[in-house]
Amino acid sequence: MASIFSKIISGEIPSFKIHEDDNFLAFLDINPNALGHTLCIPKKEIDQIFDLDDETLSELIVFSKKVANAIKKAVVCERVGMSVIGLEVPHVHVHLIPINNMDDMSFDTKISMTESQFNETMNKIKSYI
Ligand code: AMP
Repeated sequence: MASIFSKIISGEIPSFKIHEDDNFLAFLDINPNALGHTLCIPKKEIDQIFDLDDETLSELIVFSKKVANAIKKAVVCERVGMSVIGLEVPHVHVHLIPINNMDDMSFDTKISMTESQFNETMNKIKSYI
């Protein structure tokens, strides 16, 4: 069965898409740690990041860098943290999280956002890609 992220890629499930190319997609995390929390995924559905072939892994990091630099410009923060977990969704995803302290990287701390805040954040980050 296709992962929830494959359904986002195909458009079967809606998302707040930030950036896309032939092989990768970036979209806002629906349950964010912080405003601007973004996921970068390969379109190829692989569960674990270190099972990616070297080329896809390298390209995913370069794609994530481009998105992280846009997040840094769009969202006031000290830096953009990067994390890979994958315990919830078995489809490789890089978490890019605007942070000011260690707690912002803790997945215990969540913020709630309205649909218009998601749209506004998406559009702002997109404008810096
Ligand atoms: P993990 O697999 O533990 O790295 O966490 C999966 C992440 O995917 C969580 O931060 C979820 O909030 C996020 N997530 C799950 N479903 C969606 C969705 N439909 N759109 C955006 N983010 C999602």
